[in-house]
Amino acid sequence: MQELIKEATLLEPKIIEIRRTIHENPELAYHEVATSKLVARELRTMGVEVRTGVGGTGVVGLIRSGKKGKVVALRADMDGLPVQEEVDVEFSSRKRGVMHACGHDTHVAMLLGAAALLAKHRNQLGGDVKFLFQPAEEDGGKGGAKPMIEDGAMENPKVDYVFGLHIIGDLPAGVFGIRAGPFMAKPDAFRIRVIGRGGHGSAPHDAIDPVYIAAQVTIAIQGVSGRMVNPIRPFVLSVCSVHGGSKNNVIPDEVVLEGTLRTFERETRSKAIADIKRAVFSTCQAYGGRCVIEFQKDTYPVTYNDEKTTERVAKTLRKIRQTKTRLIDPYLAGEDFSRFQRKARGTFYYLGTNNPAKGCVSPNHSPRFKVDEDVLKYGAVSLASVALEFAR
Ligand SMILES: [Zn+2]
Ligand SMILES: [Zn+2]
Repeated sequence: MQELIKEATLLEPKIIEIRRTIHENPELAYHEVATSKLVARELRTMGVEVRTGVGGTGVVGLIRSGKKGKVVALRADMDGLPVQEEVDVEFSSRKRGVMHACGHDTHVAMLLGAAALLAKHRNQLGGDVKFLFQPAEEDGGKGGAKPMIEDGAMENPKVDYVFGLHIIGDLPAGVFGIRAGPFMAKPDAFRIRVIGRGGHGSAPHDAIDPVYIAAQVTIAIQGVSGRMVNPIRPFVLSVCSVHGGSKNNVIPDEVVLEGTLRTFERETRSKAIADIKRAVFSTCQAYGGRCVIEFQKDTYPVTYNDEKTTERVAKTLRKIRQTKTRLIDPYLAGEDFSRFQRKARGTFYYLGTNNPAKGCVSPNHSPRFKVDEDVLKYGAVSLASVALEFAR
């Protein structure tokens, strides 16, 4: 382990340089063209086999060990977010309104670092190692993992174990966060059209006011989480967007609400969806309105960390003496890493980057999200050591 850390320290300037290059030029979901070119070029320089254009802009790298042990896949996502960066560094985003606000730039850099380490230690591998650079994690619907899997990323050679690492703003820098079992939620998006009948603001009795009804609906569905779902079952519901109306004295025809719900269990989810529908329909009906509710189809599954595998990963992480490994609570965010876990056992874990001394205090997705780059080499070491542990 100490040897890997020494090598990663030598690689550190390169890892940071790659991260900054990608940070300056963030690309949105499905458009990771320059990023995947950079990835393919770097992998080829290391002598790693490369397949490009996998499920769109995805890239798959492969180190063959020449042995018949387990095949390990390591995954990094590559897309940025539609966020205007407010971090003032010399490598700030050069694209207006696009930013690597979730740290996927660091994921790419760390995984390339791990690939460089593993290419050097190829003879210690007992099985092959694959590198999955995926598009569009932030898409939230189809995502990038699904098209890559459909394009054969998990086959040939068939992957036995899959691992992924996410940088996180709410854990201290240098702390790995891990947990076995359900780790991240199934994210469901919904859209509710509240339909009334427009009219004059001075005469609501002659209209059916969708603004009033939408307000009632927003409150009514919170009762699903507060009163109707078993409180020991993780569940959260948020209405995050309200749109309707054009002027202070015109009652509009329609108001549109958009929101998300997050669950870990199938029964909780189907009960919550049924309860939401009933609350929305009856509230709209009570005030003479109508509604149309749509739930997004085929959303990301629950990110489930296989127990035995995760125990071995945690043991491996603890060997990186310069870092700490903590058991953390599950997150209600969603991740399409979960789709790879449907194909092979695996573990998703976090690496903290919170460091107030360096101004790294904002959470992921914030326009002020800033990463403590000192942790990146440990991220690279962790991925490489997990691959060495499992590729046997
Ligand atoms: Zn994100
Ligand atoms: Zn992310």
